[in-house]
Amino acid sequence: MLDRITRIAALMNPKWNGQFSCFDLVAKRDDCPRSTVQVGDIEIGGNDFVVMAGPCAVESEKQLLQTAEAVAEAGARILRGGAYKPRSSPYAFQGLGVEGLKLLRKAREATGLAIITEVMSEEDVDVIAEYTDIMQVGTRSMENYALLEALGGCGLPVLLKRGLTATLEEFLRSAQVIAMAGNPDVILCERGIRTFETATRNTLDIAAVPVLKTVSRLPVIVDPSHAAGVRSLVPVLSRAAAVVGADGLLVEVHPCPEKALSDGNQSLNFGEFRRMMTDLQPYLELQQESREFRHQLLAAGGAD
Ligand code: PEP
Ligand code: MN
Repeated sequence: MLDRITRIAALMNPKWNGQFSCFDLVAKRDDCPRSTVQVGDIEIGGNDFVVMAGPCAVESEKQLLQTAEAVAEAGARILRGGAYKPRSSPYAFQGLGVEGLKLLRKAREATGLAIITEVMSEEDVDVIAEYTDIMQVGTRSMENYALLEALGGCGLPVLLKRGLTATLEEFLRSAQVIAMAGNPDVILCERGIRTFETATRNTLDIAAVPVLKTVSRLPVIVDPSHAAGVRSLVPVLSRAAAVVGADGLLVEVHPCPEKALSDGNQSLNFGEFRRMMTDLQPYLELQQESREFRHQLLAAGGAD
């Protein structure tokens, strides 16, 4: 086993260390190989694979509560749902705002799920922080430094999505901005990037997961829904994420995706989500082995 570890360690790209070590609050260090983010009794970046699931947008009490119950029953720990929506078209549904936040709180009370929701502006940080457990920074906001700095003092973990055209260096630079502003609890989310490929909505950069897990101490999760743009690909991309060592998923689920006010094409219905969670199990066991392997690699000094 040790031979294999040493061989793989020798294959690690020495460039990574020099390139990212300037982001000292988020880069991996000998004395801090990884950090975990605690959300109530949920530990993200530890030994559990944490699934966050729910609708793209909060649309109504019935839609949200039904979804919360279904995803909780299937094994999700965190409910997602946008109340403030960054939409490509100004004519599209922009979200319910504070009404949506109140529904998220109600769903948390009903199911015990923790809540994640997006914040788009530094002006909304305080009000959203009253209702949510994790602040989501969307792909379009990854370089909104006024927002990132405001999140430094929000007192809640931040899930930072990779920008549509951001390199991993730029991604970690934004994470460093949040940490420098006083908040070390950052979770990285690979959600697909813009490439020349048009068959999928975005291109899931699956290699980003092991690279980020190698150079950074932060938890890394994958959003297969926005990467794929089409629901049939979501389960297989989720399995891929599990196998390459992601710490969890962010998945869009809707009671009736055909009627969703946003991102219906990529949303799973309840049955599809349940099946996806069941089918994921053997892959999570594989991941457990690779986690143990990575820890031995770290102990052998290979992954730094
Ligand atoms: C979302 O999670 O619904 C969303 C808008 O994601 P992204 O910022 O990745 O497009
Ligand atoms: Mn969405």
